[in-house]
Amino acid sequence: MSTTVSCSIDLDSPGKSTGYLKIGDSTNQSGWATYMVPIIKYKNGEGPTVLVLAGNHGDEYEGQFAARDLANNLDMNEVTGRIIIIPCLSQPAAKAGTRLWPDGTNFNRIFPGNENGAVHGKLAYYLSTELFHQVDAVFELHSGGRGHHFVPCSHMVWSSDVTQRKRMIEGMKSYNTSHHMIFPEQPGTDPTTLLPGLVERLGKGLVTTELGGSGIATFESTTIAKDGLRNGLRFFKAIKGESKTRAELGLKPPIFLDLRSSKSYHSATHVGLYENIKGAGDAVEKGEVIGLIHDMDHPDTPAVEIRAQQSGVIGVMRGFPRVNIGDVVAVLGPAYASTDLFPENPD
Ligand SMILES: [Zn+2]
Repeated sequence: MSTTVSCSIDLDSPGKSTGYLKIGDSTNQSGWATYMVPIIKYKNGEGPTVLVLAGNHGDEYEGQFAARDLANNLDMNEVTGRIIIIPCLSQPAAKAGTRLWPDGTNFNRIFPGNENGAVHGKLAYYLSTELFHQVDAVFELHSGGRGHHFVPCSHMVWSSDVTQRKRMIEGMKSYNTSHHMIFPEQPGTDPTTLLPGLVERLGKGLVTTELGGSGIATFESTTIAKDGLRNGLRFFKAIKGESKTRAELGLKPPIFLDLRSSKSYHSATHVGLYENIKGAGDAVEKGEVIGLIHDMDHPDTPAVEIRAQQSGVIGVMRGFPRVNIGDVVAVLGPAYASTDLFPENPD
């Protein structure tokens, strides 16, 4: 229970309501300030509650468009449960066009939050202790941000809880993207500090996406974001109609990329300008050059080659080309027609 965040609307009342999460704040410009986070709620009937979240990272846009589309264009007669929408979690980051908040905070590393911390900590605490407990499923919509570019996908972390894993696979598939990506837990990171990591451990339905990247949004990636969200809401029975599979829509079967192996991640070995030699979605062989790092201070020196550590399909390529040593420049792994075909141990 949060004492530093309140919601200006009754989330349990029927119908549509629009308001704010109001967070106690104090700034240089205003000693007695309230930090306001827009929130929209639709409720019709006794069906499940689905929470739609976007703008966790400020330079990821497709999810923000999809959430805003829902906030404006959902017909109450379509709704068969309750849908709560927060179109932009990290407004200061979004307004600055940056991944992180202006103080350097990654909103996706501070869960379960801090009731008496900075604004982002208070918001995370409210989500962790109140909102997540009221919902059946969460959509957390990301894109690659400036640094990365994904084949638009819904994705998941491979859960050791087999029941939860199966549930997450079905939710992931409901987004109907051409690719689905399966990641390991973030190395060197407590998974419950991530928003989706915490939601997963609360046993909620969970769908997460990476819908493009490079700090831009295209018509195609935004359309995928909007269409997938609607189909996913049907899957969770929050809006009317049957969710459709890709086959039912006449689309090619989805590709499941197994990115759980440590060999999936490729990092820059030098500082410089990274040139993608292969693109997101390309198939590559082990040992093939996938990128080059150029030392622009010494343009007559050979570029440093980055070679594929295993065969597979590139799920993530580099977006913004300037890299430091240790920056991830590509993620690739073997492609399967189903997660049922995944080996138990990817290494
Ligand atoms: Zn993100």
